[in-house]
Amino acid sequence: MKRGTYILVVGPTGSGKNTLINAAREAVPGLAFAVSATTRPMREGEVDGVNYHYITREEFMRRVEADEFLEWAEYGGNCYGTLRSEIETALSKGNLILSDIEVQGVRLIREKLPREEYAVVYVDAGSWENLVPRILARGHMSAEDLEKRHQRYLDEASFMAEADYVVENHDGKLDEAIQEFIAVVRKIGE
Ligand code: 5GP
Repeated sequence: MKRGTYILVVGPTGSGKNTLINAAREAVPGLAFAVSATTRPMREGEVDGVNYHYITREEFMRRVEADEFLEWAEYGGNCYGTLRSEIETALSKGNLILSDIEVQGVRLIREKLPREEYAVVYVDAGSWENLVPRILARGHMSAEDLEKRHQRYLDEASFMAEADYVVENHDGKLDEAIQEFIAVVRKIGE
């Protein structure tokens, strides 16, 4: 049976990745979403087992030891990991499975999976100057935290050239970005 494809969606915070992913989940039948495990606290509106599996650091490290993660990374002081079982089940059934992941994780997955089993989609929301107002609109952030985000932005942005697909999500063009993202997901699934 033909194996499925793992779609890795990368992009800086504030790029609107989540909005695009949610739209694709509604529009593309059979598209699975990989629910990662994380040690970060649940945010308002999130649901355990839907957005993430929220676990303690002890439990996270137990799973690392048990080799349950295809990859894991520390980001902003919290751990995030992709569950091997979830990805393998989808790929073996020939399904499309998508996850929202930062660049360290993508680099690890590229080393582990055969080239034909994954595709990297980068969501580009323009320059750092363009993103700052979007990030600040989500709530107050110290100058130090903003600088950390900036460093991460530079790391993520440098990844754009390595992506298989780039979807532009510029201000005021959300509908176009959603349509383009859905088209890319469908194309990967063909
Ligand atoms: P947030 O805390 O805002 O949900 O996510 C923070 C960052 O962690 C985002 O860039 C997201 O893409 C990344 N992330 C979420 N799940 C995983 C995962 O399983 N592995 C890795 N490496 N990064 C993840």
